[in-house]
Amino acid sequence: MITLALSKGRIFEETLPLLAAAGIEVTEDPEKSRKLILPTTRDDVRVVLVRATDVPTYVEYGGADLGVAGKDVLIEHGGDNLYQPLDLNIAKCRMSVAVPVDFDYAAAVKQGSRIRVATKYTTIARQHFADKGVHVDLIKLYGSMELAPLIGLADAIVDLVSTGSTLKANKLVEVEHIMPISSRLVVNQAALKLKREPIRRLIEAFQSAIPA
Ligand code: ATP
Ligand code: MG
Repeated sequence: MITLALSKGRIFEETLPLLAAAGIEVTEDPEKSRKLILPTTRDDVRVVLVRATDVPTYVEYGGADLGVAGKDVLIEHGGDNLYQPLDLNIAKCRMSVAVPVDFDYAAAVKQGSRIRVATKYTTIARQHFADKGVHVDLIKLYGSMELAPLIGLADAIVDLVSTGSTLKANKLVEVEHIMPISSRLVVNQAALKLKREPIRRLIEAFQSAIPA
């Protein structure tokens, strides 16, 4: 049995065409079913649904043989114990710094003042500001980062941006792109050896279907 860990939503949806290329169809809709283990048209392949941030953990400890996880999640988790054969070029967005439209970020950076930054992505944020030599106090949040500067909890946020409409709706502007983000295929190291052939075939099929 091959177990693939996916998170509901965009990663699940955007992984479906890659699975199709491997001749695999998920036979239950995760938005309608409450099941966490989904069967597929192949008896030897199943999908488990986990939180996006839990995908690396499941794969690292062998709860799943493979998984699909965002680069953001992999950096925050630490990807050293995972084999990462493919950038799938799905769930694309970018990691950015954003501030309220009336906050002069360039001036704050230039003055060398301490900036308060709210984010879920503390590893990425810490590295980014360290590279720039900017002093920051990081405030860890688990969601709704956009609220923090509006309420005076922080001067800036580090968050994922795709269209920018959430920022705009909250009168925030992007002031720095930190890195482009997409999702990767991750593989359990032991499974790679024990289930070599089926996993190799799956990787090849996925590779052939990566969107441009
Ligand atoms: P949860 O909703 O369970 O708290 P999450 O918000 O991190 O977790 P998603 O919003 O489904 O989960 O995001 C999953 C992955 O998709 C992220 O880790 C990121 O790589 C990518 N992603 C997040 N937001 C966007 C976006 N706006 N556009 C494209 N990809 C995104
Ligand atoms: Mg979400």
